[in-house]
Amino acid sequence: MIDLHTHTNFSDGTDTPTELVNKAMAAGITTLALTDHDTISGWDEAIGALRPGLSLVLGAEISCQTTDGISVHILGLLFDPTHNELIKTLENTRDNRHGRMEKIIRRINEAGIDISMADVLEQLSDGATLGRPHLADALVKKGVVASRDEAFTKMLHNSSKYYVPHYSPSPEDAIKLIKAAGGVAVIAHPMASHRGRVISVETFGSIIQSGLDGIEIDHRDHTPDEKVSLINLAREFDLVMTGSSDYHGNGKLNILGEYTTIPDQWEKLESKANARRVVSI
Ligand code: AMP
Ligand code: ZN
Ligand code: FE
Ligand code: FE
Repeated sequence: MIDLHTHTNFSDGTDTPTELVNKAMAAGITTLALTDHDTISGWDEAIGALRPGLSLVLGAEISCQTTDGISVHILGLLFDPTHNELIKTLENTRDNRHGRMEKIIRRINEAGIDISMADVLEQLSDGATLGRPHLADALVKKGVVASRDEAFTKMLHNSSKYYVPHYSPSPEDAIKLIKAAGGVAVIAHPMASHRGRVISVETFGSIIQSGLDGIEIDHRDHTPDEKVSLINLAREFDLVMTGSSDYHGNGKLNILGEYTTIPDQWEKLESKANARRVVSI
């Protein structure tokens, strides 16, 4: 079973990379991608936890923004982790997430809700990428909402009055960087419309032109109709079709391996990297 999109507590998942690797093996996954938001800092622990029977695909889910302000997530897999410009771009995004969080907190405080940056940082593991889910957890701890999900539905969604974006590269630039670093680029949940506005056909065209390798089609946030239109697009442009769980531990309902990628699609994707970088022992 091949699951190409998962998170740990190095971003907004709740499992450590070791727990993720162990749970993936228990779930019958044979190829697992680690794709924390805007960071590669969980890679070493995941490699250390690896056992025979599991192949590890190291990557990151890169937060991107189009010129018209739409949020797009690009999965970069199998890239060279010493590629300076890519690593600097991820660092820049992570740094910017702190100032952005302070702005969101200010807006929430102005609405009369007591929450501080310290409350939010208490929810973050050392070295992890800060995100709205950590704010959600802090709001749960304060008793403002009952769950992460309620926090997003009532307060933290992309069209909320509290929403503030953070610096992110354009999806085109992120794809070019991933490719320059020898990796492969897959657009994550492109049609997840309940999260906010999604990209237009024109923007999709420009993303494909930048060297996109694959489209994540089988994902919990896509409707059957959305999957059909994405399959047609993948066929038209000869893009790899992936499926994945986007597992976040207890942070989301998504279950490891709930959607998977079929082996021949994975082989096609892996062959597009400039070196064999799948890790196994
Ligand atoms: P940010 O990166 O700070 O913009 O926050 C976006 C993250 O919030 C994404 O990784 C999503 O996985 C997560 N997220 C979005 N909606 C929800 C939800 N309803 N419940 C839990 N996590 C969510
Ligand atoms: Zn996430
Ligand atoms: Fe995502
Ligand atoms: Fe994700």
